Amino acid sequence: MQKEKDLNFNIPMHILLVMKELEKSSFEAYLVGGCVRDLLLGLTPKDWDIATNAQPKNIRHLFPDSVYENKFGTVGVKIRGEAVDNNKITTIVEITTYRIESKYSDKRHPDEVKFAKTLREDLSRRDFTINAIALKVVKNKEVEIVDLYSGQKDLKNKLIRAVGDANERFGEDALRIMRAIRFSVVFGFAIEEKTLSAIRKNAENLKHISPERIRDEFVKIILSPAPAKGIELLQEAGILKIILPEIENGINVMQSHHHYHGPYNTVYKHLVASLEKCPSKKLEVRLAAFLHDIGKPQAKRGEGENATFYNHEYIGERIAKNILERLKFSREITNKTTLLVRNHMFYYNVDEVGESGVRRVVQKIGLENISDLIDVRIADRLGSGVPKAVPYKLRHFQFMVEKVSHDPISVKQLKLNGNDLMSELGVEPGPKIGAILAVLLSQVIDDPTQNIKEKLIELAKELTKSKVEDLRKMAEEKIKAEQKKEEGLIKKKHKV
Ligand code: ATP
Ligand code: MG
Repeated sequence: MQKEKDLNFNIPMHILLVMKELEKSSFEAYLVGGCVRDLLLGLTPKDWDIATNAQPKNIRHLFPDSVYENKFGTVGVKIRGEAVDNNKITTIVEITTYRIESKYSDKRHPDEVKFAKTLREDLSRRDFTINAIALKVVKNKEVEIVDLYSGQKDLKNKLIRAVGDANERFGEDALRIMRAIRFSVVFGFAIEEKTLSAIRKNAENLKHISPERIRDEFVKIILSPAPAKGIELLQEAGILKIILPEIENGINVMQSHHHYHGPYNTVYKHLVASLEKCPSKKLEVRLAAFLHDIGKPQAKRGEGENATFYNHEYIGERIAKNILERLKFSREITNKTTLLVRNHMFYYNVDEVGESGVRRVVQKIGLENISDLIDVRIADRLGSGVPKAVPYKLRHFQFMVEKVSHDPISVKQLKLNGNDLMSELGVEPGPKIGAILAVLLSQVIDDPTQNIKEKLIELAKELTKSKVEDLRKMAEEKIKAEQKKEEGLIKKKHKV
């Protein structure tokens, strides 16, 4: 045991209170795991874990306001704000009884939870040395640190090292493999040699881990300061081919075109570089940067400079959807990411695409998604090795979007609505109303000066004579013609 004086840790009052309460009844109370690691790194812990030799029933007895007890024996205790500092907010503090984990026959969950008598045993079941440090508050600012696995030394040397036999530890719970890589990229630590070779050896065992648990670690890797490094570690350790085989498929697929410079010439390298350069901190944008060309291996026709990747954005949208659904991402994240993948080829050129063209892009993608799509484009460009992220063209596009952002791009913004069609022109309620409005919108997108009630009524008068199917065709054809034009331009410019 090691005593440290005057370590100015900011441990909240209510945590100190709970620990004191346990000690008053002659139980031990230690802070353990992530919070101790974060304190020693000078970071603010996200959550506070208290470990004790008190059994769950003792904890419940001491804290009658306990709210739950999970299957690992963690008891959630309710602490009322006024008990601490006259604050009205009630917080839940988790207290966990010392435990050891017995056999993991399915490599996924411990078969049973076994309580332990000593802190020593509890620390021995933790994953990494930096997560196996315990801390006790002796007096006000004096703490006692229990560090049986030299976690402080590893913190100093920036090393992720398994507690005990690395091979055994990853064999017990393969999620620790993902955690090792996550901590490595979140803190910028290296993975100690034996730990790394045990990771390689046990990578296959990740097949037994639930997609949700893998996803949670994957998300932390993607949102870390070094997501590309994380993907490379996953790849080198043989993990990527298990959790994201679709990305692995791009490893030997050459990009054809000259605008993918030297080191970015395979689909895989380009995607990793795009993730690295992604200017956004949003999960869905980073995912889209990483997945935007995921359709290329399948879409590729021909070889060398003449290879083409037609429709790779649509193939990619489908593959991205499969991946995100398999990893149980929320529908919101999945939809947003796939929208960005599908539209990442949007075309803009200063003199070629006018205001109506920009309005159609905005209509298709949604004004709220434009800046994220631009971020994907910036990632794509930088990930191709071009020096400038935001060329004049992209800035001009931003300017044009701003300019047209008040113009109508959805039927809601038309100065004529369904009720007007019924009252002024006697159109019967039914599908015809929507069809007429769709045609009117397509005309207003071409020319916003038409968005005046009287003009729209004039236009609608003509349209009421047409059948619903014909109206729909009219609106669709406008969109299709516009899409054809855009696709033609994309193909001409990019050979994709
Ligand atoms: P975070 O900052 O993400 O909360 P953490 O290290 O606190 O990181 P938690 O999942 O909150 O991670 O777990 C708390 C502690 O429990 C860890 O620090 C570690 O000691 C232990 N632990 C968590 N998961 C495992 C595991 N799969 N195997 C062994 N020990 C684990
Ligand atoms: Mg934690």
